[in-house]
Amino acid sequence: MTQAEANPLLRVTRLRTSIATDMGRMVVISDVSFEVGAGRTLCIVGESGCGKSITSLSIMRLLPKPQGRIEAGHVSFLGRDLTALSEREMRQVRGRDISIVFQEPMTALNPVFTIGSQLTEALLAHERCGTAQARARALGALREVGIPDPESRLDAYPHQLSGGQRQRVVIAMALLCRPKLLIADEPTTALDVTVQAQILELFRQLRNSHGMGLILITHDLGVVAEMADDVIVMYAGRVVEAGPVASIFNRPQHPYTIGLLGSLPKVSERQGRLPIVPGTVPNLMALPEGCGFHPRCPLAQRRCAVDLPLLNAVHGDHRAACWLAPLD
Ligand code: SF4
Repeated sequence: MTQAEANPLLRVTRLRTSIATDMGRMVVISDVSFEVGAGRTLCIVGESGCGKSITSLSIMRLLPKPQGRIEAGHVSFLGRDLTALSEREMRQVRGRDISIVFQEPMTALNPVFTIGSQLTEALLAHERCGTAQARARALGALREVGIPDPESRLDAYPHQLSGGQRQRVVIAMALLCRPKLLIADEPTTALDVTVQAQILELFRQLRNSHGMGLILITHDLGVVAEMADDVIVMYAGRVVEAGPVASIFNRPQHPYTIGLLGSLPKVSERQGRLPIVPGTVPNLMALPEGCGFHPRCPLAQRRCAVDLPLLNAVHGDHRAACWLAPLD
């Protein structure tokens, strides 16, 4: 085991999060564990509502207040438990150590300030630098994400930019302080393919040159195949399969993963967005007993409706939560 594997950048251990609703507390993720090393990319895949975004919000302690609550588990970043930090300490971690990019850029941009002031504010808050230096770095960051005419964009307001340009500004802002870990939730969905390729290349460069860890939440299996070192597949708030990308694509074990990947998955082929798995995502307030996937599973057996399968090793670091998966 290498030093980096022994001390990953991020270690999430048995995380459980709930949200208060009119009908009572709803557990939205349960028993979620994974690690991300420096210079590694973890892709999280699954249908809408499977808990991918709640996992990233839990890591960042950005759950909706007061409804959201981390019920159990730990989020260790460079050995520091983020769940135990004060809000002030957490603000220091956000932006400087860990950045997040959401799919909807307007959630991160303030409509009444210029792009330049929002970018420089982020730098001045986290680093010792003068205003002129901050502006120069902001300009460089806009160039990095391929914004046309970046000088004039610095003085523009968010509403004066197109949706794609706003998303690139948000990505520039997230990368400005060179975070050690970037969490990107469907970051390129709104962008055209050329810009998407450019942004992913930028992520790759930062990962390789700065050892940045990357958590990429995506529906796009082509992006997973291109970017991931490791993959976790989530269903109904739980990790149902996890492992190195080649192993997940070439030897998927969980029927849900097999359904997502299609019948003949190949890591070398760009496969586009996740195919539809027949059936509907379960209501988290009324999860079925046993395996949460059993009402949709073509291979379900009697036991599946009673006992919850745990995530067990099937081959090296590849794990699956299915009664039919062979044990290592
Ligand atoms: Fe299907 Fe049973 Fe495996 Fe769940 S445990 S995925 S229902 S075979």
